[in-house]
Amino acid sequence: MTTLTFLGAARTVTGSKYLLEHRGKRVLFDCGLFQGLKELRLRNWADFPIPAGSLDAVVLTHAHLDHVGYLPKLTAQGYRGRVFCTPGTKDLCQLVLPDAGRIQEEDARQANRHGYSKHHPALPLFAESDALRALTHLQPLGYHREIEVAPGISVEFHPAGHLLGSAFIRVLVSGGPTLLFGGDLGRYGRPVLRDPSVACRADFVLVESTYGDTDHRPDDEGEALAEIIRDTVARGGKLVIPSFAIGRVEEVLYWVRRLEEERRIPVLPVFIDSPMAAEALKYYSARVSELDPELRPSFKRVSAFATTRFHTIASTQQSKELTASRTAAIVISSSGMATGGRVLHHLEAVLPKEKNTVLFVGYQAVGTRGRKLVDGAASVRMHGHDVAVRARIAKLDSMSAHADRGEILRWLGTLASAPKRLCLVHGEPAPMDALKELIRDRLAWPVQTPEHGETIEL
Ligand code: ZN
Repeated sequence: MTTLTFLGAARTVTGSKYLLEHRGKRVLFDCGLFQGLKELRLRNWADFPIPAGSLDAVVLTHAHLDHVGYLPKLTAQGYRGRVFCTPGTKDLCQLVLPDAGRIQEEDARQANRHGYSKHHPALPLFAESDALRALTHLQPLGYHREIEVAPGISVEFHPAGHLLGSAFIRVLVSGGPTLLFGGDLGRYGRPVLRDPSVACRADFVLVESTYGDTDHRPDDEGEALAEIIRDTVARGGKLVIPSFAIGRVEEVLYWVRRLEEERRIPVLPVFIDSPMAAEALKYYSARVSELDPELRPSFKRVSAFATTRFHTIASTQQSKELTASRTAAIVISSSGMATGGRVLHHLEAVLPKEKNTVLFVGYQAVGTRGRKLVDGAASVRMHGHDVAVRARIAKLDSMSAHADRGEILRWLGTLASAPKRLCLVHGEPAPMDALKELIRDRLAWPVQTPEHGETIEL
């Protein structure tokens, strides 16, 4: 008997974990953290539902924390086997997992200092040392190379176009069904990343439904960004872009470089002020052959991402100097929702002045400073005091890394034949249910939306 148990990202978007069991062998696909609402985050603290040491292998789709962030906790609970992922995913895990450990430790320290946890002492979910130990289990495997990860269970990665190293996974079970784990699905015709690969034939398919009820806005060839840059320059101000350190930074740089080349904006100094973003950029540059062919270095330029006057900021001293400088410039810094990181110092300096612009390029969750600014707050609290907001606050919605409903259907349409069953995962109930209806209407496939903890027989 072959079964699949949904241990995360079932009727919600975070915590991706799917347990495949076949003839006594157990393979876990993705090992993500639950994020967001407290009732979800509490699941990270529960014991893993089976002894972690009884797993034969773990296989990852990509390096976002909601797909890999539970690994340190899994190894701390006794998992000793290999964790298969693409080389690009391994690169990015080396950045995000230790960073997540440091943040967990810092949060626990804060909670203990201010006594706002009911646990004494408050403990981190995992420490940086746990993350470093988890990294030693990573086993890189290139795209399109089949490997047996446990007796009778083989996997093969295919590019998913969602993040550097992102993959969907074809799983062959000897004497059993073929599965396709869709992971997070990227978009078509976007810069930086390639389009998602053609889907392979499978009996059971899992696909995400984050934007199952949405059509992304059509591409504007960078015009909204160009307008914001020209307007800020005309007012003699600075443009600060809070950005997720991995993935989004590359897309922003691509557009700025292209707008410069097409002479649609004046050439400004561009600063990356985020140590993690600078590291991630190196990995993206080193793996440019895996990215959109348009990015390959040509005789015109040496780096795929460098703008004309491009700088990365290393030390905090340099960061402080940049914060104090009044020269017109584009500053890209983290965190993307202005919840922490070096971007806070930049915001504190630019928000009170009308001539400046703050541009948000990613999703802003409820309760974050970023969301308050986007919603038009007159002031925001930072480093213990209120900062007046007089700068222009702008927002670009065009840079999502997830397929919309049309793109999900387009990808499903590349399957050579209808699967026996399609399971929708990684979505909130409303978009997931809307997508279920759409797929039934358009494709007439059997569609299921498994609940958290549900086991299905394959
Ligand atoms: Zn993702």
